[in-house]
Amino acid sequence: MESTLTARDRVGVQDFVLLENYTSEAAFIENLRRRFGENLIYTYIGSVLVSVNPNKNLEIYSKAHMERYRGVSFYEISPHIYAVSDNTYRAMRTERRDHCILISGESGAGKTEASKKILQYYATTCPVTDNMSTLRDRLLQSNPVLEAFGNAKTLRNDNSSRFGKYMDVQFDFRGAPIGGHILNYLLEKSRVVHQNHGERNFHIFYQLLEGGEQDLLSKLGLERNAQKYQYLVKGCCPRVSSINDKNDWKTVRKALTVIGFHEDEVEDLLNIIASVLHLGNTQFGEGENGENQITTEPQLKYELFVDLRDRIVMRYSAFGKYSDPLTFSTFCYVTAFVQTQYPRKTNFEQFCINYCNEKLQQLFIELTLKSEQEEYEAEGITWELVKYFDNKIICDLVEEKHKGLISILDEECLRPGEPSDISFLEKLEDTLGGHAHFVTHKLANGKTRKVVSREEFKLIHYAGEVNYSVNGELANQSGISVTVICQSDSQVLSQCFHREEVTDQKRPETAATQFKNSLAKLIEILRSKEPSYVRCIKPNDAKQSGRFDEALVRHQVKYLGLMENLRVRRAGFAYRRHYETFLQRYKSLCPGTWPNWQGRLADGVATLVQHLGYHPEEYKLGKTKIFIRFPKTLFSTEDALEA
Ligand code: ATP
Ligand code: MG
Repeated sequence: MESTLTARDRVGVQDFVLLENYTSEAAFIENLRRRFGENLIYTYIGSVLVSVNPNKNLEIYSKAHMERYRGVSFYEISPHIYAVSDNTYRAMRTERRDHCILISGESGAGKTEASKKILQYYATTCPVTDNMSTLRDRLLQSNPVLEAFGNAKTLRNDNSSRFGKYMDVQFDFRGAPIGGHILNYLLEKSRVVHQNHGERNFHIFYQLLEGGEQDLLSKLGLERNAQKYQYLVKGCCPRVSSINDKNDWKTVRKALTVIGFHEDEVEDLLNIIASVLHLGNTQFGEGENGENQITTEPQLKYELFVDLRDRIVMRYSAFGKYSDPLTFSTFCYVTAFVQTQYPRKTNFEQFCINYCNEKLQQLFIELTLKSEQEEYEAEGITWELVKYFDNKIICDLVEEKHKGLISILDEECLRPGEPSDISFLEKLEDTLGGHAHFVTHKLANGKTRKVVSREEFKLIHYAGEVNYSVNGELANQSGISVTVICQSDSQVLSQCFHREEVTDQKRPETAATQFKNSLAKLIEILRSKEPSYVRCIKPNDAKQSGRFDEALVRHQVKYLGLMENLRVRRAGFAYRRHYETFLQRYKSLCPGTWPNWQGRLADGVATLVQHLGYHPEEYKLGKTKIFIRFPKTLFSTEDALEA
């Protein structure tokens, strides 16, 4: 088969396993930098795709590009997100196993863009029958809706996803997509009522105000001016140059219909959005008898708003159960508007995100090593185990029954009496003091440490150290009133919560435990599938194109565990190929195998490598594949092919 790689594609190495000096972090980063300089944003570590955000549109996502990647192996063509999409899809069909693609990286690194590229690839290249085209449209159109309700401008990313997303696409036996669903995790609800300086609320608010027809806004009692709304001015930046709220509104409005919202449901939804804005402008105070009362009259009244407001005033201080973290995101944040207080620090959210990253990293280590080991075993090849840092110890520290951090938090929240943040911290010290990954200001000898304040504890995550303040940690765990919502006349609103959930008098679960449980479910789902990985890297903090900040990249390479990944990959054999593929590609180099080898494939490969002069140290023949220890061996063979 003819190679589709060009000289430009060969800047640096397109697979890190080919690096001579593969243990050198400097060499790793230099390879990324050189390729990035040539707009080659993708590089492999074996089958893991490393992607560096270009922060500009590259001409590599056209339909023609998609076609080029169809049915082609990794090494025959330059690295691309389409190659991962295609290989995963083909493996799923031939092996008849579920697959998943895990995309990770820090805020602004390109995860959402990567997931959209994968979806577009499937939407364009998978077979579809006529009645399936609606499904394909829904799949694609779910994105603008999710982004409108779940993304916001932050300091780090103008379109930052404020929730975790698990998207499931099902295919039929012909490989046509026939269904799908989306799970969401940990929507940052506090953003509805508060935004840091330079950040915005969720896109939908600005889209509605900018793009909604005048009639609609009047009906909702809204003015076309974000400055008028308390919930939209906290971050002082209602407009963002990279965002066109007016156009985005049109897209979202259309998408809502495509994904199957009825007109009256859309109306309900927009009523809720408007209610949030009105409520933000409402002030609460104390009435004559000490009860909570609205002290500002809203300028405009309309049915739903008044309905909710009255009940909220009545039940203002009642605590209910926390909302289900898996609730469909579009609706998740209607819960936020009965939250009359928000945590000033988002430490609990950060804690959950970091905990989630620990779990995903653990899964990554487990699966990468496991599959590597299994492959050698299956092929009957011996190899040496690589040492790596197993972050299970940190996961246990957080989630272990009875003595993990979350268990202690639960106990402290739910015990009778007066739990406090400080007693929580003391309990943590009693139980976890001395743990290698847990630090407080107290030293064993009774002295104090300066690096951690009295209201903090520090966790040494696999990616680095993080201080967490316990201030408000407990308050954060108590829920918000969902009773009100269940009683609403609004169809959409009342669907968001199950009545049983509210009337259920069992001891409520804390938000931390709920998160732990939903995360455990997610990990189970992922574990049951064959994983592929996309590791996204952000080259600079300024959202600029062409700028490669080495220190920033080094940090990400470290915490994504890429060097370890590479070491594991290189520990045994850098390359492996099915006999058939190997023969097909290199048979022209040996008279004995050219033009066609008639015997057993393994014998053909043996004949070929003997002719090429491979040293016995350099390779091993397994049951179905040849394993090549050093990249340079394969390099010279490739060079011979080109000569
Ligand atoms: P967050 O965790 O904040 O949601 P993220 O990893 O999802 O961040 P994205 O929203 O995917 O980050 O990317 C941030 C921005 O970077 C995009 O809006 C886009 O402008 C740019 N970008 C990312 N990937 C690409 C790409 N492959 N090509 C061009 N631009 C990109
Ligand atoms: Mg995102």
